[in-house]
Amino acid sequence: MAPARQRFARCRYDGRIHEGTLDGDAFVTADQCWPLANVQLLVPCTPSKIIGVGRNYAEHASEMGNPLPKEPLLFIKPPSSLLDPGGAIVLPPQSHEVHYEGELAVVIGQRCHRVPRAGALDVVWGYTLCNDITARDLQKSDQQWARAKGMDTFGPIGPCIASGLDPGNLRLRTYYNGELRQDSPTSALIFDVPTLIEYISAAFTLERGDVITTGTPRGVGPLKPGDVVEVRIDEIGILRNTVVAA
Ligand code: MG
Repeated sequence: MAPARQRFARCRYDGRIHEGTLDGDAFVTADQCWPLANVQLLVPCTPSKIIGVGRNYAEHASEMGNPLPKEPLLFIKPPSSLLDPGGAIVLPPQSHEVHYEGELAVVIGQRCHRVPRAGALDVVWGYTLCNDITARDLQKSDQQWARAKGMDTFGPIGPCIASGLDPGNLRLRTYYNGELRQDSPTSALIFDVPTLIEYISAAFTLERGDVITTGTPRGVGPLKPGDVVEVRIDEIGILRNTVVAA
C-alpha cells in the first residue's frame, strides 16, 4: 500500500508560528483552518544544513560545459541563506550574474548516518522545492561555491513537505516571469535520491529537517530586479519568489 500523502507546512499568522498541513486553499492546524491567502508561509522545516548536489542532470552539466561527475558533487548552503516562499531574492552588489536553479529537495525525517541505499527512503520525511540561487560569476572566480551559493536569500525552500511521493517519478518545472524555462522528469537525475542519501550520510550525520537539494536540469538563467521565478512540482506545489536589488 502506498504511504499516505500529506503536505506539511509552517506559517506565520497573528504574530505566531504555526505548524499544519495544506489542504487546497487552506492552512489546517489541529484545531483551526485559515485561508492560505491570510497566512505567510515559511520554510517548512528548520534545517541544520542544506546539502546541495551539483551537475546531477546530464543536460545541465553540458549547458555549463562541464563533464559528468563520477560521484555526487556536494556543497553546503548555510541556514542563513534560507528564504520563505513568497520572499524576495536579493541580488548582491558583489555579483553581476545571479541565476535561478529549480530543484527537487529531500527533507530528512530522523537523525541518521551511514544509511544504506536499500533503506534510504525510510529516513525521508518528504519532498519540497528549492531554488538553488547561484552567483555564476563568483562560482567561477572563487573556484569553490560557498559564497556563490550561500549568500543571504539564496536558499528559497517550500512551500510544503509532501510525503508519500516517489522521488524518481515527478515532473520538475521552472517558470521565469511566467515563461517555462526548465522542464524535466526527476527520473533524469544522474544520482537518484537513495544513492544521494547513502553517499551524503556516509559523510555527514543528517538531522530531522535537514535538506538535500538534488540538482537542477537544463535551462538555468539570470535574474534581474522585478523578476518572478516559480519552481513547480504538481504533487508539492509552487515555490514563488520575487527578485530585488540590494
Ligand atoms: Mg543547483
